[in-house]
Amino acid sequence: ILADDTAFSRHQEANLRPEIVQALGDRIRETGVKYIYYMLPTLGSRTVAKVVPAELYERMLKKGIAFHRTALTDLQTSREGELIGGGVDAHEFWGLPEPETFQVLPWDSEVGRIFCTAYDPPHLGEGGGRLVALDTRALFKAAHRGFTERTGLELRSGLEPEMTWIGPGIEPISKQDQTPAYQVENLEKMRPVYKKVISYGQALDFTMIQGDYEDDGQIELNWDYDRADLTAERMTTYRQICKQVARELGLEASFMAKPYNGKMGNGCHHNLSLWRVSGDGPAENVIEDGRVELHATQTARHAIGGMLLHTPGSMLVMASTVNSYKRYWDAGQFAPSGADWGLDTRGVAIRISANGRMEYRLPDASVNPYLSHLYLLAAIEHGLEAQIDPGDPGRLSEAAQGGAVPNTLGMAIESFEADEYLMGAMPEELTRIFLQLKRDEWARYCGIITQWEFDQYWEA
Ligand code: ADP
Ligand code: MG
Ligand code: MG
Ligand code: MG
Ligand code: MG
Repeated sequence: ILADDTAFSRHQEANLRPEIVQALGDRIRETGVKYIYYMLPTLGSRTVAKVVPAELYERMLKKGIAFHRTALTDLQTSREGELIGGGVDAHEFWGLPEPETFQVLPWDSEVGRIFCTAYDPPHLGEGGGRLVALDTRALFKAAHRGFTERTGLELRSGLEPEMTWIGPGIEPISKQDQTPAYQVENLEKMRPVYKKVISYGQALDFTMIQGDYEDDGQIELNWDYDRADLTAERMTTYRQICKQVARELGLEASFMAKPYNGKMGNGCHHNLSLWRVSGDGPAENVIEDGRVELHATQTARHAIGGMLLHTPGSMLVMASTVNSYKRYWDAGQFAPSGADWGLDTRGVAIRISANGRMEYRLPDASVNPYLSHLYLLAAIEHGLEAQIDPGDPGRLSEAAQGGAVPNTLGMAIESFEADEYLMGAMPEELTRIFLQLKRDEWARYCGIITQWEFDQYWEA
């Protein structure tokens, strides 16, 4: 997919079909949108955008937006003072809109948004016109299409991002020795928050299903699962919604993995199922076989085998910040830290929580959802292809052992590099730049003197 020089021009051609131009124009006129964000998720899971008056939509369908390449790497400057992913002279990428993703922002009906796909400019010659491997959203979509073509299966997923809110009026009320989880009075304090988040989610096509209060200032609001690329995209939208609600209410909302010691971290369980979509009939969930007791089908076992084998290697993606690992060190806070699986138990990496779904519990809420799905999909496909048996709960088979699970970002970098299968399955540019970013982050962190060190060593 990444070697296709015609990708840009084919996308452009499709955008300029008269019925497509007409349909977007109609939508803009019907909704009264006056401004449009043309946007893209970055490697670090932020969103970059340009705002363009809506009337220029036809020009945008053709030309799209241009950014310096390093916008996709969050403009991170390395310890040596260089921009990671390209210097001042690095060429731009061009982002072409996907008109079917047009939506109106529920908090300002004059503003719309459209996701874009990033390409190297066609005028570059060698390599021009190709999909940019750092556009993880486009990459996962393409990978998922390939997976479906090869296997006849579709990955569906539901995410459970937790997040921490702070600000006036939402201080926790529990006593020291009680858990604040699920207390209706805590939920009441979050009423302005969940009302807005749920209604904005609904307006943006989420099927919102439930919500709860889990720890001080921490809530989780769930929406229904869907095809994995759509779910990942909703995670980008969800973050945007929560940031907006925080602004409206004078609060702050954070998806940081572990804001406080002694309180639960912000996890982001990935619930996964595989659906056969190749036949004539309705799609069929192949990890469920109608038995009532909790179970894993043969297909589920192979998928689990693949995910466990590649857990050490993909931790850098699932837990991608220095802070992510603090979540696993804080004992008694429900976060798993090994490569294991089980039926309805919360201490493990993969839990069969209900028939027909596998819950991968290691990722945290700061995760790039496109990358996490990309790596999980590769691991699952390996498991299915090689029929990797995971062993029984509590006893990992030899075939599913991928080595020790890293518990710092530094160790995760090493485990990532040691996973030859995943290295081979991913585009070279993505791997190289992701590693460069993470090595730099780790090096900067290791060089910082913390308060803990003063407390520990000043008097020594
Ligand atoms: P938990 O019991 O772990 O707290 P939640 O109810 O909070 O789980 O969230 C479960 C998530 O899993 C929801 O997003 C739900 O839509 C999703 N889910 C349910 N069934 C499936 C399935 N078959 N495949 C993928 N995701 C699913
Ligand atoms: Mg949940
Ligand atoms: Mg939770
Ligand atoms: Mg939790
Ligand atoms: Mg869960």
